[in-house]
Amino acid sequence: MHLSAADHRLPLSDGNSIPIIGLGTFSEPQATHKGLCATSVKIAIDAGYRHIDGAYLYKNEHEVGEALREKIAEGKVRREDVFYCGKLWATNLDPEMVRPALERTLKVLKLDYVDLYIIELPMAFKPGDETYPKDENGKWLYHKTNLCATWEVECHPYFTQPKLLKFCQQHDIVIIAYSPLGTARNPMWVNTSSPPLLEDALLNLLGKKYKKTAAQIALRFNIQRGVVVIPKSFNPARIKENFQIFDFCLTEDEMKDIEALNKNVRYVEMLMWQDHPEYPFNDEY
Ligand code: NDP
Repeated sequence: MHLSAADHRLPLSDGNSIPIIGLGTFSEPQATHKGLCATSVKIAIDAGYRHIDGAYLYKNEHEVGEALREKIAEGKVRREDVFYCGKLWATNLDPEMVRPALERTLKVLKLDYVDLYIIELPMAFKPGDETYPKDENGKWLYHKTNLCATWEVECHPYFTQPKLLKFCQQHDIVIIAYSPLGTARNPMWVNTSSPPLLEDALLNLLGKKYKKTAAQIALRFNIQRGVVVIPKSFNPARIKENFQIFDFCLTEDEMKDIEALNKNVRYVEMLMWQDHPEYPFNDEY
């Protein structure tokens, strides 16, 4: 597999293709100033990214759409050059709610289509206007669905997913690794007692060897084994840094050494929903 900054799409079994690196856009809405997401998406497009990972839930999908439309109008990219992934939130999992939710995303984006639309969480919440519905006692309000479990997979050097990766590769299924840098360690979602990925000694040592950062080594590891990565950054230097992963190659031994870092550390555990009947992370993948 030859990957370059100009050409880094992976073929999909339906004839489409997906760029192997995308910009993640989740950022705590209260802590993110207006316009930062749009600016970051534009910087990413200029840096060479052709894949943006977003969601209606992130409350900045309008900014993603604005940035993409601006870059298309400028002639920097065509719509068909950019891969956009949107997400169906947990309060809309009943089959009749899927289409209106997708249409709402398209309206917010002001685009005609998304390239991928995925189930954000494989656990249904009570349908309605509340994003995180709770009863008067503060108890989560779950919902029953006939959910055929389909969702993205956390994947990074501390959670390498060898069994799942092998299964998917045998069946021509491409994995998209969320949180490929080990998250922003927001205690609302993440068990912060887990070791920070980017402080790992081996990743930093290899970084020194290749004049790269631990983040670039972690991203290169995944793309070199055919896993799509969607690192989030709203920092101009780091957006560019995360894309500079096509000009070096880890040796086979180094790939094995990084694989051996696996600690089965899942950062996004979402323990607050572990009593949901469809809580997915008790199963082995
Ligand atoms: P990441 O692993 O991408 O880490 C993001 C954090 O790392 C941010 O704090 C960012 O800060 C920082 N960072 C980015 N680049 C570097 C760098 N080069 N060196 C050091 N720090 C860096 O975490 P996410 O959990 O955000 O995952 C990525 C994306 O995946 C999300 O944004 C979202 O789009 C998607 N996602 C989807 C989920 C789902 O649907 N179930 C669940 C989780 C994520 P800064 O911005 O300041 O650079």
